[in-house]
Amino acid sequence: MKAYRAAWVCPIDQPPIKDGIVAVERGRIMGVGKPIAPTGLKELGNVALLPGLINAHTHLELSWLRDRVPPASKFTDWVKTLFAIRGRPDAGISAAQIAPIHDAIAELKSSGTVAVGDIGNSLAAVGPMRQADLDGVVFHELLGFKERDGALLESTRQMRAAATNAGARVSLAPHAPYSTSLELFGAIRAAIKEIPCPIMSVHLGESLEEVELLEKGTGPWRGMLETIGAWRDDWQIPACDPVAYLDRHHLIDEKTLIVHGVQFDDKALLRLAELGATLVTCPRSNQWVGVGYPPINRFYKSGVKVAVGTDSLASVEDLNLFSELKTMRWLAPNVPASKILESATLTGARALGLGDELGSLTPGKRAQMIAVDLPAQITDVEEFLLGGIPSSQITWVE
Ligand SMILES: [Zn+2]
Repeated sequence: MKAYRAAWVCPIDQPPIKDGIVAVERGRIMGVGKPIAPTGLKELGNVALLPGLINAHTHLELSWLRDRVPPASKFTDWVKTLFAIRGRPDAGISAAQIAPIHDAIAELKSSGTVAVGDIGNSLAAVGPMRQADLDGVVFHELLGFKERDGALLESTRQMRAAATNAGARVSLAPHAPYSTSLELFGAIRAAIKEIPCPIMSVHLGESLEEVELLEKGTGPWRGMLETIGAWRDDWQIPACDPVAYLDRHHLIDEKTLIVHGVQFDDKALLRLAELGATLVTCPRSNQWVGVGYPPINRFYKSGVKVAVGTDSLASVEDLNLFSELKTMRWLAPNVPASKILESATLTGARALGLGDELGSLTPGKRAQMIAVDLPAQITDVEEFLLGGIPSSQITWVE
């Protein structure tokens, strides 16, 4: 048995403990609090000790696009630039695009992230994640507005089987309602129920253009789909908001990660809370791609579970989740700091099915902890952690 003492221990599932101790044995947390003189006590000094962070939405395979897709004032403009540089999502990935995945993972780890919810079309991130021992779920993303059955799902089965055999937790992600047909949504939904990791991730309510397409069948998204030959004349205009659309077809439940939600009204948020889904917010990416900032206050007020992601390096400057938390704090100064920290840890872990292993300093869980350097004087450790923490102030313990 070993024990670590820190100026502040932030277990997440209970308030911060001043001069707290975490006891560890064989990589597992044995006790948290102020136990009596444990043997092998290691003094960590003036740091905050907390669980590794959970970045619930990344696209590691897009890491080579860092600094290549500039911020836009309109979402469809950002997407057009992305397409022009990247090609179609199913275009595959070149050897030169693999090295940036390794760099991105190194950046995630050095900034305190222990697990990710990673979206991939090529599943190229699986190998690098395993090599670097980065935990999480790899969501194989499928899209096709004209897909009329589950043929795409069937034809890509081998890719997922190979990733699973390589040791990854693999699930599926229909891209978004403006890019994925209901038939494909339905096939993915049915397939997910049969796999060991039955979690679904979907981009939803990101842009006003998406809302317009679903409400009225018009606007820039329709134009884009027509231009690339993906429009279908038999598509029924849902005439409702994005949440109501998926809900109507029973595509949301407590194992669904709803990513973005920038455009959701209170009714949609309440419905997600009722369904038990997790909303993953990526505020810096939202601003980058021109959809505005997410209503962080309303997210928390609605009672929906909120997790946090950075999104990809095509729409954010770095993968440091603490920077995302700083933006959330700036957007929502009155949300309790403890809630925002919980989003970046326990809520994310639970959403990815890792709640028994990660996300809090709780006896029985894995002792993958980070120590964050603190200033000499500190009044509120949780608030300090929302101020933006550079990698240089973060050290892994265990
Ligand atoms: Zn995304």
